[in-house]
Amino acid sequence: MPMDELAEGLKRAAALLVQARRVIVFTGAGVSTESGIPDFRSPGGIWSQYDPDEFTYQNFLCSREARRQHWRMLRDTFLAYQPDPNPAHLAIARLEEMGKLDCVVTQNIDGLHQQAGVPEEKVFELHGTMRYAYCLECGRRYPMPEIKAALASGVEVPECDTCQGIVKPGVIFFGESLPPEVLAEATRRSRTCDLFMVVGSSLVVYPAASLPVYALQSGAKLVIINLAPTHLDAQADVLLLARAGEVLPAVVAAME
Ligand code: NAD
Repeated sequence: MPMDELAEGLKRAAALLVQARRVIVFTGAGVSTESGIPDFRSPGGIWSQYDPDEFTYQNFLCSREARRQHWRMLRDTFLAYQPDPNPAHLAIARLEEMGKLDCVVTQNIDGLHQQAGVPEEKVFELHGTMRYAYCLECGRRYPMPEIKAALASGVEVPECDTCQGIVKPGVIFFGESLPPEVLAEATRRSRTCDLFMVVGSSLVVYPAASLPVYALQSGAKLVIINLAPTHLDAQADVLLLARAGEVLPAVVAAME
């Protein structure tokens, strides 16, 4: 993106944020790539190494072998990273300190918004979380560091200590429904916000990608910060095709 267009866009995004009263920040994998977690679809992303069709909820339930493959993929990807919040997460947390943030709606499972300082109750995790796993039979929860230690010690398929049930990560797999109460609240807030800001999402995963459409239908302004084009670019009031970790702190600085 040409520098003068970017500088102009930054100013306009800052002005919209200053005017706005209920801001939703909607994030995807792109907000965390600068923390060292690859996204799914960019070149070199997670789906260039693994076949998404294999990692479904139905497969996970079907066989011990499928569960072994799921856990191995997670061990070698999400559980192998030790990410810290990057300047984009910190800028979003700063919006909360400035009293601007209605909430963060995230497709991410990494917990980095909370780690950056956004209060737990203001983060809606549409696709669940990797911060814990739980037993599908008795519901017992296991903090992910415990599971990670078990995998590192040679356990291939974690089972529940209480009832030997299937232990599943707190993330939503393909083929699994989104948590209905989280989706309902995110939808309600998207329909009543006055500024919806997309950060690092390809906007191709549904139903999450419907939320900016609901916001637009309700008259909210739309800001998109993403490296690649999305299908809503033409409807954005401000479009910043740039790295979130560089652009967001600059937008917040311009507001201040
Ligand atoms: P995606 O992989 O489909 O798209 C990510 C988008 O972010 C791309 O359009 C890319 O151009 C953009 N991007 C990459 N780095 C960026 C940066 N530094 N600044 C700005 N934009 C950047 O991801 P998605 O739309 O979020 O959807 C896919 C699914 O991926 C979600 O379900 C999510 O749960 C899952 N996921 C989560 C994580 C995580 O928790 N960190 C990581 C990978 C995938």
